[in-house]
Amino acid sequence: MITLQGIVFDAKSSFLKGPSLAPPLIRKAYHSASANYFAENGIEISPKIWLDKGDYEIADYFEIEKITSTNLNFDYPLITLGGDHSITYPILKALYKKHGAVDILHIDAHADLYNDFEGDPYSHACPFARIMENKFASRLVQIGIRTLSQHQKEQAELFGVEIIQMKDFNIHKLPELKNPLYLSLDIDALDPAYAPGVSHHEPGGLSTRDIITIIQNIKVPILAADIVEYNPTRDINGMTAMVSAKLLKEIAVKML
Ligand code: MN
Ligand code: MN
Repeated sequence: MITLQGIVFDAKSSFLKGPSLAPPLIRKAYHSASANYFAENGIEISPKIWLDKGDYEIADYFEIEKITSTNLNFDYPLITLGGDHSITYPILKALYKKHGAVDILHIDAHADLYNDFEGDPYSHACPFARIMENKFASRLVQIGIRTLSQHQKEQAELFGVEIIQMKDFNIHKLPELKNPLYLSLDIDALDPAYAPGVSHHEPGGLSTRDIITIIQNIKVPILAADIVEYNPTRDINGMTAMVSAKLLKEIAVKML
């Protein structure tokens, strides 16, 4: 079994709202009659594998930690459908309380390491600064980054973040992961050509196949994962929802 929670929250998005609409649409794409439930390795991600806790309307950002703690107590791996990327900090806080510090693989166009963004230390541009300063991660590896500002470069050096920038990305030289993992997948890591339904279109990104290959090559247990920043208001024919649902299945099959 895998626990599934949807976090209906985009109040900490800096540019556009919309990711709060994502969780039910990713579920709908997962159930779409246009596809089946099989992951690429031939294992079926049947609806029966989910302990689906549904979608949570979030009034207060700090509720996310409590909800996640409750849903981690089922002792299954947990997948969270966001929501904007700010949700990853309270999720990691809950995970830390249960498992201690974990290694994180973070796939994103952005490093999300700002000390604060437009005055908000919990902005979706900041979660990994909060996670690292609280020592919730024993290792943070970022892939797909193509927007590294001087401030974020300094933050990465301060926290010892291992960044594989998009300009240096090589699918044949993926980082070796050694410990149980948290996987944080920001859909804007994908090139906007593959995933137009995001708030921040950042050209020159990963292909859908690149991310599938990264996931399929993970050889350590995935304790928990999130899929964030899908913005349905920017999507075209639901194609980004289908990409999100495809990646959901590939992550799920790794957890089973
Ligand atoms: Mn992000
Ligand atoms: Mn991003």
